[in-house]
Amino acid sequence: MSFPCVKCGECCRNIDKIPQLKAFDMGNGTCKFLINNLCSIYETRPEICCVDLMYERYFKDKMTRDKYYQLNKEACEYLLKQINGDKQK
Ligand code: SF4
Ligand code: SF4
Repeated sequence: MSFPCVKCGECCRNIDKIPQLKAFDMGNGTCKFLINNLCSIYETRPEICCVDLMYERYFKDKMTRDKYYQLNKEACEYLLKQINGDKQK
């Protein structure tokens, strides 16, 4: 079982509030490793970019995997809504 990511790339375009990814930010919140909407360092990406690894390392004692996925999904949907909202302005 793994997180059902739809590969929209929005998380990689909103890294400005993630201290661990500060060095990756091109200055506009987008990660310099996002190429053609995909992570170009996928196999060696930082742990914070890996939903399942983060669960195993930091959250599995705190909540179920289903709950963790649900919270992550809500964050993905929030980002998508922000983008869609911006497009309608
Ligand atoms: S915002 Fe969510 S669904 Fe989109 S690429 Fe990131 S993890 Fe996947
Ligand atoms: S390293 Fe890869 S997964 Fe992490 S923010 Fe950059 S492009 Fe996205």
